[in-house]
Amino acid sequence: MSMFTTESVIGVIGAGTMGAGIAQVAAKAGHPVLLFDVAEGAAERGREGLAKGLQKLVSRGRMSAEEVDTLIGRIQVIRSLDEMAPAALVIEAIVERLEVKQSVFGQLEDICSEQTVLATNTSSISVTAIGSTLKRPQNLIGMHFFNPAPIMKLVEVISGLDTQPEIASAIYDLSTRWGKQPVHAKSTPGFIVNRVARPFYAEGLRVYQEGGADTATIDAIIREAGGFRMGPFELTDLIGHDVNYAVTCSVYAAYYNDQRFLPSLIQQELVSAGHFGRKSGKGFYDYS
Ligand code: NAD
Repeated sequence: MSMFTTESVIGVIGAGTMGAGIAQVAAKAGHPVLLFDVAEGAAERGREGLAKGLQKLVSRGRMSAEEVDTLIGRIQVIRSLDEMAPAALVIEAIVERLEVKQSVFGQLEDICSEQTVLATNTSSISVTAIGSTLKRPQNLIGMHFFNPAPIMKLVEVISGLDTQPEIASAIYDLSTRWGKQPVHAKSTPGFIVNRVARPFYAEGLRVYQEGGADTATIDAIIREAGGFRMGPFELTDLIGHDVNYAVTCSVYAAYYNDQRFLPSLIQQELVSAGHFGRKSGKGFYDYS
């Protein structure tokens, strides 16, 4: 029998760019979803943002208003981590910092049952390292969605050294049932996609820094000549520079400061200024 059914309660922690989208994916698949964010009102805003986004599908005739109400109705905002107790699977999508993730999972181990599967949506932090401070590291797995989570098919299912293989299989199956295309990966820095994508961002930033071309020109060339959906600047604006810069720093440190992964000072400046991209209204481009 499968580890998860549609009755299984799915917890999502962090209701930002990724968490809200992941909540939508789980609710669309029929699960009751518990959504928690530490920032006052953020989970409510995340849920409202989803409802707004889904209204657009209603106006295009791709979903009925009833379907949207049912889906949104499955997402319950909770105001304390203690309310995560009934979750069979908790997916964490919070800030990309090892010690914060370790602390949240440590609390969840005391709140949830011993069978609850704990999943991290980390883009780059070692699943093994996150699990190293847990009582049950065998229950921890990486479940790495891509942005925007409701649209992008790929999910990297990342096993740390102690992850139980049955859990990796169950998360792989669940992702498939959620309409995703999962892939098994090991807990190497950046996993597969964020490792391979590092030069995409880094070289774009270097060309720009050297004055080779402006951001709009580089983005247009990558899109139109390269056939990519987005260029490096519009994509990092979508991802969020705080997140993308943290990922670069994490991969750089994990490979013992290998210069290939050197973080960009331009991106560091954007982060310092709070110009995180679309989510803050400004990054390489202006969204206000
Ligand atoms: P975000 O900044 O948009 O949202 C993070 C949310 O987590 C915020 O609402 C914040 O208030 C909340 N939060 C922070 N600390 C918390 C805590 N201790 N408890 C509860 N909530 C907390 O970030 P994001 O882009 O959604 O990224 C979240 C995670 O997903 C990161 O690990 C990131 O690396 C990963 N990720 C991001 C992308 C992307 O394109 N942005 C893609 C895949 C994976």
